[in-house]
Amino acid sequence: MDGKFLDNDIDKVVAADRAHVWHHLSQHKPYETSDPRVIVEGKGMRVWDQKGKEHIDGVSGGVWTVNVGYGRERIANAVRDQLIKLNYFAGSAGSIPGAMFSERLIEKMPGLSRVYFCNSGSEANEKAFKMVRQIAHKRHGGKKHKILFRERDYHGTTIACLSAGGQPERNAQYGPFAPGFVEVPHCLEYRAQWDLTGEDYGIAAANAIEDVILREGPDTVGAICLEPVTAGGGVIVPPEGYWPRVQEICRKYDVLLHIDEVVCGIGRTGTWFGYQHFGIEPDFVTMAKGVASGYAAIACCVTSERVFDMFKDDATDPLNYFRDISTFGGCTAGPAAALENMNIIEEEGLLENTVQMGDYMLDQLHALKDKHKVIGDVRGKGLFLGAELVKDRTTREPMDEKSVAAVTGDCMAQGVIIGMTNRSLPGLNNTLCYSPALIATKSDIDELIEATDKALTKVFG
Ligand code: PMP
Repeated sequence: MDGKFLDNDIDKVVAADRAHVWHHLSQHKPYETSDPRVIVEGKGMRVWDQKGKEHIDGVSGGVWTVNVGYGRERIANAVRDQLIKLNYFAGSAGSIPGAMFSERLIEKMPGLSRVYFCNSGSEANEKAFKMVRQIAHKRHGGKKHKILFRERDYHGTTIACLSAGGQPERNAQYGPFAPGFVEVPHCLEYRAQWDLTGEDYGIAAANAIEDVILREGPDTVGAICLEPVTAGGGVIVPPEGYWPRVQEICRKYDVLLHIDEVVCGIGRTGTWFGYQHFGIEPDFVTMAKGVASGYAAIACCVTSERVFDMFKDDATDPLNYFRDISTFGGCTAGPAAALENMNIIEEEGLLENTVQMGDYMLDQLHALKDKHKVIGDVRGKGLFLGAELVKDRTTREPMDEKSVAAVTGDCMAQGVIIGMTNRSLPGLNNTLCYSPALIATKSDIDELIEATDKALTKVFG
């Protein structure tokens, strides 16, 4: 780090932050007596805070975003050049980076064809929900409007997204919610709801979706929205057998399949998209975080041509198009950054690195599990991994949140940032999570594992 930030009089910065910034996900009482953390600079896998302390970032910017790592001048330059040429134009007009990024993106997504730009994962999901609702009105007299979501999945922060949210701890105190969203059971075998294992478990969990469709009435269910690998709900990789059965059920009942790739999209699990591990054919794919690795705000709702066609079949009907706009969907910095982000992933072989390093890290986490009995389960795909902590391996009683936070806190003190699934109601989210940038090396991973090892020993003995 070059220490340049010290020129800004960092004490003034911290005072301004304490006085005026309302931090995300934060209880602010502690900041009355202690300083909030301000992250000042980043390079590769590392960030520096206001005290100049170096940290290795095991969670890509806190929430699975900075896939290509910090300090990428190529992306900054692409954005700069584009901003000077044309920063913004919205409404019905297109842009050069929007068109060129869409073409590149669609090359990676066989079977899909249209990209709708917006700004956040929540917004991308809202776009898909609105499309589903409009299709219900256009095709089914408004009846086939219900949207299914899965227990433990998260789709965003707006009221509609929370209405489709399977994490009660995120929803508490924000109701009432939007009608027409219906929950299906989670598919985490470690917290089994059926006395089955492996593929049989996967099929049973998918069949539970069919039960909900039949209970609600197939003529009322328009779509199902699922994370390919559940992120904040506990890093859950659905068991074998799950996805093929989900696809079959969707086809059988004419239920559109919406895959929320806000976390998994653009390489996180070692393929461009998480759903591509499972051979499924979604109708909607939403994405945000890794699309431009946080160098600009961009999100997309990508659809099949079949979905798109439903919005242009009768051009004489004044209601017959997607009557939606996203003001900042017209910012050109997003697709310019996203295009360069994709170039970097390809040129540096980051998908291949993610597969190799993900396998390595999973092995290391299994070794930690052999050593620490508080680790009940280890799971994940690519560089998206979790270790679920329990009080007792036999009963699988979840570790209390305070103790899990003590582990992440100790890692932080060691200069190692790892995550935990949502700080929440007791017993729901007790999983340490790891999502280093896709550039991670073995020695980076060793650092994350060694810090966790030390922290577990310190907290649990
Ligand atoms: N979907 C998933 C799976 C997410 O994890 C998140 C954010 N953590 C969102 C949607 C919402 O994205 P955003 O915060 O950009 O609105």
